[in-house]
Amino acid sequence: LIVAYYMKLKLKEIHMSGNHHLYVPGPSNVPAAVQQAIHCPMEDHRNPTIPELISPLMEDMKKIILTEKGKVVFFPSSGTGCWEAALQSTLNIGDSVLGASFGQFSMLWLDMCQRLQFNAITMEEEWGTGANPESYHRELSKDKDHKIKAVLVCQNETATGVRSDVVAIRKVLDDLNHPALLMVDGVSSVASYEFRMDDWGVDCVVSGSQKGLMLPAGLGILGMSQKAIDAMESSDYPTCYFDVKDMIAKIETGYTPYTPPVNLLRGMRVAIDMLLAEGLENVWKRHHRLAEGTRRAILDGWGLKLCAKEPKWHSDTVSAIVVPEGADAVPVISTAFKTYNLALGAGLAKVAGKVFRIGHLGDLNELMLASAIAGAEMAMMSNGIKIELGSGIAAASKYWLDNPAGK
Ligand code: PLP
Repeated sequence: LIVAYYMKLKLKEIHMSGNHHLYVPGPSNVPAAVQQAIHCPMEDHRNPTIPELISPLMEDMKKIILTEKGKVVFFPSSGTGCWEAALQSTLNIGDSVLGASFGQFSMLWLDMCQRLQFNAITMEEEWGTGANPESYHRELSKDKDHKIKAVLVCQNETATGVRSDVVAIRKVLDDLNHPALLMVDGVSSVASYEFRMDDWGVDCVVSGSQKGLMLPAGLGILGMSQKAIDAMESSDYPTCYFDVKDMIAKIETGYTPYTPPVNLLRGMRVAIDMLLAEGLENVWKRHHRLAEGTRRAILDGWGLKLCAKEPKWHSDTVSAIVVPEGADAVPVISTAFKTYNLALGAGLAKVAGKVFRIGHLGDLNELMLASAIAGAEMAMMSNGIKIELGSGIAAASKYWLDNPAGK
C-alpha cells in the first residue's frame, strides 16, 4: 500500500503528456527498433544459439571502431568499467600513466589511475580546451627511460563539449619513438564522429552503449590492439571481473565468463545494423551537420558562447553553452525539465551553474534537435536570460536549409 501510494505521488509529479525530450549527452534516444529487440523474453545465456549473436556482433563492432587487427570485447558495465579494464589488464602496479585533464571525464580517468595505484602524471589544461600535443611532447620527451607505460586521451570531453585530436597525440609518440600504449576514451565519440583505431595506432579504446550506440546503459565496450593484448602477458595487476584476457578467451568461443545482458546484446545487434546501413561516414556527417546547426543557434542566434574556446575544439556530440555572467544555468535546466519535459545536461564540477549542455548524438534528426533548441530558448527566457525569442531556431534552420543533408 505504501509503495502504491508513493508510486501514485511520483507519477503525479512526473507525468506530462507528449514525448519526453532527452538531450543529455547520453543516455541518448533508443530507436524503436532497438527497443523492440531489447524487449524480448529472457533466455539461457549458454544456449547453443548464443555464439551466433555474440561472435558476429563483436566482429561488426570492429567496423564501428575501424579495426581489423584488434579485438573487441564488452563487459556488463558502463564505460567506467572499461577504463578500469584497460588499465588493469595491460599495466603493472605503480606504472606511470600520462594524461591531460580538462573536464570532468578526463579528470576522473586520471583520478582512477591514482586510486588504482598507478602513478598518474596529470597535465592540467584549461577547461574549454583539450589535449595539447605540446604538453604531451614536453612530458614524454623527459621520459628517457620509458617509465610512462600508457598515454591517455579523452577524445570527446563530454563535460565541456571539447574534441581532442588523437592523431596529433599519436604523432607525438611516434616522433619520440615512445613505446607507451595509447589509450583513448571514446565514450562520447565512438559511433558518432571520426575514430579510426588501426589508422590512428590506438591500443585501447573505451566506449559505452548509451551514447552513439543508441542503447540503454549497461554495456562497456573495449577495443584492444595486438600490442595491448601482448602487454597483458606481463601485467602483474590482479584482475577478476574485468579480466580482459578471460573475456577475450571466452568471447572467442561465442560465450562470456559470466551472465551477460543478452537483451542488450540483441538491441546492440539492431543498433549496429542501423549504423552500418546508414554508413559510418554518413553517421559522422549527420552528427556534424546537426552539431553545426546547434552551434549556429547558440553563437549566431542567441549570441551566447560555447565552453569550447575555439572551433578546433568543437564537439559534434555535445555543446556546452555558457550562460551570461550573473545568470545561473541550474534553474534553466530545471525549468526545461519541469515545464517542457526536456532534459538538458547539467554543468559538472568546475562549470556547474555556468553551463548547460545539449547532447546531439545518436538517433537524431533536425526536428528532434529543434525541440531542444526551442525548449532551451524558452527556459532561458523564463529565467531572465536576454535572448531573442525564435533566434536559435531561426539560425539553426537557416544552417540546415543552406546545408542540406547528403551534400
Ligand atoms: N568518459 C566520457 C567522455 C563520458 O562522457 C562518460 C560518461 O558520460 C564516461 C567516460 C563514463 O562513462 P559511464 O558513465 O558509461 O561509466
